[in-house]
Parts: sequence; C-alpha cells; structure tokens
Amino acid sequence: PFRQRLLVVANRLPVSAVRRSEESWSLEISAGGLVSALLGVKDFEARWIGWAGVNVPDVAGQRALTKALAEKRCIPVFLDEDIVHQYYNGYCNNILWPLFHYLGLPQEDRLATTRSFQSQFAAYIKANQMFADVVNQHYEEGDVVWCHDYHLMFLPQCLKKHNSQMKVGWFLHTPFPSSEIHRTLPSRSELLHAVLAADLVGFHTYDYARHFVSACTRILGLEGTPEGVEDQGKLTRVAAFPIGIDSERFIRALEVPQVQEHIRELKERFAGRKVMLGVDRLDMIKGIPQKILAFEKFLEEHPTWRDKVVLVQIAVPTRTDVPEYQKLTSQVHEIVGRINGRFGTLSAVPIHHLDRSLDFHGLCALYAVTDIALVTSLRDGMNLVSYEFVACQDSKKGVLILSEFAGAAQSLGAGAILVNPWNITEVAASIEQALTMSAEEREKRHRHNFGHVTTHTAQEWAETFVSELNDTVVEAQLRI
Ligand code: UDP
Repeated sequence: PFRQRLLVVANRLPVSAVRRSEESWSLEISAGGLVSALLGVKDFEARWIGWAGVNVPDVAGQRALTKALAEKRCIPVFLDEDIVHQYYNGYCNNILWPLFHYLGLPQEDRLATTRSFQSQFAAYIKANQMFADVVNQHYEEGDVVWCHDYHLMFLPQCLKKHNSQMKVGWFLHTPFPSSEIHRTLPSRSELLHAVLAADLVGFHTYDYARHFVSACTRILGLEGTPEGVEDQGKLTRVAAFPIGIDSERFIRALEVPQVQEHIRELKERFAGRKVMLGVDRLDMIKGIPQKILAFEKFLEEHPTWRDKVVLVQIAVPTRTDVPEYQKLTSQVHEIVGRINGRFGTLSAVPIHHLDRSLDFHGLCALYAVTDIALVTSLRDGMNLVSYEFVACQDSKKGVLILSEFAGAAQSLGAGAILVNPWNITEVAASIEQALTMSAEEREKRHRHNFGHVTTHTAQEWAETFVSELNDTVVEAQLRI
C-alpha cells in the first residue's frame, strides 16, 4: 500500500552518535516522545532530518556518519561549533527559550546583549537555511514536511521560497507567550512572517494558538480568523494539537519482572511513608524551588506528617555549562539541605534530591509507587511527566498536583488538583488535601485522567497533525 513520505525536521535527530574510529560510528536511538509517536503511525513513512549533536569537521567522518544514520532513516545536518554556539546556545536557548516561558529577554549588560543579539539572530537564520538545504536535497514531490519547535521558526519560509508547492507544517513544543511578551523581541516580525509561510501552524493548547494569532494581528497588522491568519488572501491555518504519550509502552513496562522487582524494593524502602514525587529537568521553568518551599511549609504546619512522608525529587541536569543553571542548582541544594537539616532524623530525611536521570524502567517503577506527583512548572508547553505518572497509576490511583501554567492543565485539569505554583500556601494546602483524599475521590479523579492519557496518545497526535496538514493544502487549492 502507498505510504506518504513524512520528513520530520527537528533540531536534534533522535539518536546519539559516538565516534568509534575515523570512519566508524555507534548510534543509539533515543526513545523520546516524538520517536514513539511516529513509529506508531502506520500511514506514513517517516524520515528524520536534524543535527546529530556532534561536531564532525572532516569529510570522511561526515560521510561515515551519514551512511550509518541512513540505516536508521536519519539524515544529518552538519553544524560547526561556531554556528552551534550562536544559533543553539545563543539565540535558541538564551533568547527564545526564556522569552517563550515568560522569563523575558536576558538583561545583564544590555549593550553587549544587543550586539550579540544581532549576530546570534544572523546565525539562527543561517542555521535554518542549512536545515532547509538538506530538506531540499531529499524532498520528493508529494512528501509532507513537518518542522518542529522554536529552533526552526525560519524553516517554513526557507522551504516555501525554494518550492511553494511543498506541504509544510510547523509545530511548537513550548508555550507561545502573550503578544505583549512576544513584542519585546527585536526580531518579532521576521519570526512571525517566517512561521506564517507554513500551511499549518500547530500548538499544544488553544491559548498558545490564540496568543500567536494575536501577535500576528497586533504586530503585523494581519487579519486573524477562527481558522488562522490571513495575509493578502493567503490563509495560514492555526490550530491546537495537544501532544500525548505512548501510554501502552508505560503500562506494558509495569509488567516487566525487573520493574516489578524494583517496585517491591521501593515499597519496602518507603514503607510507612507516603511518597511524593517530582521529575523535572533542572530548569528555571519547572518551579523546583517553589515546590520544595511549599513542601517545607507543609511540614512546618503539619508536624504529625513529618515522619510519614518523603519527597523524591529527580532533577535531571540540563545546560550545565550555563551560569544561570549552575546558580539554580546551588539554590536548590541549599534549600534541600536546610529542610533536611531542619526536619531530618537519624533514620530518615524528608527530601531525597537526586541530580541525575533515571532509565525508563527505573522511572516507571518510581511513578508506580508514588502517592502524590507534584508538577509545579511556572510555564511548560505540555509537561509529559504528568501524563506518564497517570499512565503508571492504574493500581495505586495516586493524586496529581499540577500547575495551572502547564499545558497539561487543559487536559488533566478535571482529575488533578490545579495550583498556582507561586502561591506556596496554596500548594502546601493541596499537599494536605491530596494526602487525606478519600479513596473514592482518588479513584474518580484517576479514572478521568487515565481515560484521557490512554486515548489521546502521541500516535493519535501525529496522525491528526499530518492529516490536518494534508486537508489544509487541499482546501487551499480549492480556494484559488
Ligand atoms: N525523563 C527521563 N529520565 C528521567 C527523567 C525524565 O527519561 O530521569 C523523561 C520523561 O520520561 C519525560 C521527559 O523526560 O518524557 C520530560 O518531558 P516533559 O514534557 O515533562 O518536560 P521537558 O523536559 O520536555 O521540559
């Protein structure tokens, strides 16, 4: 049967590549959300285009890596160190990431920031053009091209300039902020115009889509309709496509003997105590200090709970070479140390804080033994941890405390306890509410969330986006 070819373009390929010798590479596929989403889609034949995460300056190495990646249906874009520094570390991670999460533009040394801003923006456009060149080399008529995330906002425009017939979709995995935030960005208009070149523009939530349309009407003066944005008779369709997870993969993992053994061990270790869990990259957007301070307030106000509850916080190191992230790490360590000193005993401490990641099975076991998951993101595109927790809770039926500023609040709001993470008092009270919640109410809330997570999967998300993109192009042709 005919399967449409889908070119998935993202900054990073879903593999990690390690060079073994001059001409040999070992590759490992990382089973992230996007990969399992697209593996599950039978209607398309997906190919991946992106940066392999390594600098390969020599032609022989590039040729060998390209060949090895081809077996995994991956096509590399080679970026040199200077481009990676300016485009990826600079424009993407230092400017767009904080801005899209409402943290504003970098403020220290304004003049230096303004100067480096220009060259980083130039590198961003250049890098996007390099991705476009690789897409153009591999594109065949009828292919669908799906561009991902804030790294590649110029890609739709680069692609359409080269071939206006190409079917191009763009999806943003982060929030899109209020137009009042977006308008502070020096390159606000160029970025919006570049994205509008796509046929279909997708976001996790209706709010993000609405923010994008407002930015286009207020900053570019274009007309926003319920369908999308219109520019001189050309409509760019804008819509919400909330991502999901491969829930089956998590549910199946709980049946693996090694995971069940691990679950038994954890239950024994935490016997007599309620387990509260946080799983986050150690990023400013995750509200980790706020979460820990709320836990401290809870312990302060409820002395009887002090030896009956433990908070396990998995804080996955990220961007560890960036000073702001180093500062956050020591800030969190200081708070954790203070609380453990204050409420710990010779036999136990209230917080287990781990600066490391867990493997998939270890994570599933931890999700399964948790009584209360705490997600306190200050802003978060979706937050898949909340989905994964729910998928692993069908026997325990634990409680999810969820920030109203995570995209997931739109879908899991009815089952979770929603909180404003800035309101430490409210979060502390919600911990008490969760700990004392009746079994019936936990069951009812869990049913709601579990139903959602197992029906709104990553596969369904990918299928919906791509079929909507195909439909959008057909409708546009009918309109002319
Ligand atoms: N994760 C992991 N190992 C860990 C902790 C987290 O593989 O030790 C994964 C987790 O399963 C989830 C992802 O990291 O799929 C985090 O996604 P989320 O949307 O919650 O936040 P992001 O890190 O993308 O901001």
